[in-house]
Amino acid sequence: MHNYRFCPQCGSELEHLPMSGRYRHVCLRDGCGFVHWDNPLPVLAAVVEYEGKLLLARNAVWPEKMFALVTGFMERDETPELGVARELKEETNLDTVSASLIGVYDFMRKNELIIAYHVQATGNIQLSEELAEYKLVAPEKMRIWNAGTGFAVADFLERRGMPVRFYDRATGDDIPDPRRPTDFSLLGASLQYGIYQK
Ligand SMILES: [Zn+2]
Repeated sequence: MHNYRFCPQCGSELEHLPMSGRYRHVCLRDGCGFVHWDNPLPVLAAVVEYEGKLLLARNAVWPEKMFALVTGFMERDETPELGVARELKEETNLDTVSASLIGVYDFMRKNELIIAYHVQATGNIQLSEELAEYKLVAPEKMRIWNAGTGFAVADFLERRGMPVRFYDRATGDDIPDPRRPTDFSLLGASLQYGIYQK
């Protein structure tokens, strides 16, 4: 939820005020103290290796030809490893043999944090209603989209000495590798963000 207008604890109207370095929606009613921190939500993503190939899936609400990793939210009282295994089972019926962390990636457009695993899986694929179709791609033939989950695929392939080829989802053309090392000089701007952003 990006913009709360009323306090979910007491129903008072929230104020938009600077707090801990950012403008946030805050409840000023005595004794309430609610703050909408708006922190990113963790999302699990799986680079699924199945019979030597990587599994990509198309969500039922996505356009044709738009395939991506299996993803899902964590449940309370669940480790990320078991969460990614559960999502994979629910969405594809596959059983997880191992899950090892590839990395953690931002997905700012949706205020999410992607936690990406390499999952080795076995079993018979049966898609849930959430997914419309899947494809199995040989790792050396993989073309990678320019987004957080794509970066996970790129890091996975790179560490195995495989070619890393990015493409533009809109045009289908190859593009240069968009991954960049973190520029820590941007930290100053991040600290100032709350003062200028309203
Ligand atoms: Zn309140």
